[in-house]
Amino acid sequence: MKLNNRGLLVVISGPSGVGKGTVRKALFDMPNHNLTYSVSMTTRKIRPGEVDGKDYYFVSKEEFEKKIKEGKLLEHAEFVGNYYGTPLDKVNEKLEAGSEVVLEIEVEGARQVKEKMPDCVMIFIAPPSKQDLYNRLKKRGTESEEIIQERVAKANREFKKAYLYDYIVVNDEVNNAADRIMAIIRAEHAKTARTIHKYLELIGEEE
Ligand code: 5GP
Repeated sequence: MKLNNRGLLVVISGPSGVGKGTVRKALFDMPNHNLTYSVSMTTRKIRPGEVDGKDYYFVSKEEFEKKIKEGKLLEHAEFVGNYYGTPLDKVNEKLEAGSEVVLEIEVEGARQVKEKMPDCVMIFIAPPSKQDLYNRLKKRGTESEEIIQERVAKANREFKKAYLYDYIVVNDEVNNAADRIMAIIRAEHAKTARTIHKYLELIGEEE
């Protein structure tokens, strides 16, 4: 398959509490883009304000394990006692249709995606500081101190995985971070490896 016809798979990842979700939303609020968000599946409880099918597909542990067995997930990971995963069919459908698909997932899942789809663009969202990360988790107010501590410990391990990524974007300010991600996506489109087929076609020199 020609790379230029297939959409771009963009993986936004990084430690929990870094503000990935907020950055992703700001990215989608930007004008003139063709980005599609891949809604994940999870076994965690729905939070106030969340919508099933929009924020996540909320499913039972049994349903999730069935999807794993059937090979229906591009990646999955257990995160602080719950499963999270990316439905494979939908991602493939959208990529085939030429859409740019954005995943917002934790670090272990991102590693699996890179292995299965090495052509993806991996972006690590980093906090300006560790204290900033703790403050964000605390401010969200949706989890107990015990869960926050678990998430902080996990984040400390995840920081060390940044080298696996193509880009590191510091979330100093949400709109700045979203701007940088958009700049990365645009630059990725212009990469020779992604555009050479189209260009050769244009000048009548197909390989
Ligand atoms: P939360 O419970 O705060 O919504 O998400 C917890 C963590 O799971 C976040 O780091 C979030 O990015 C990650 N996550 C969300 N969806 C997926 C997914 O489909 N796969 C993986 N591996 N992680 C996910």
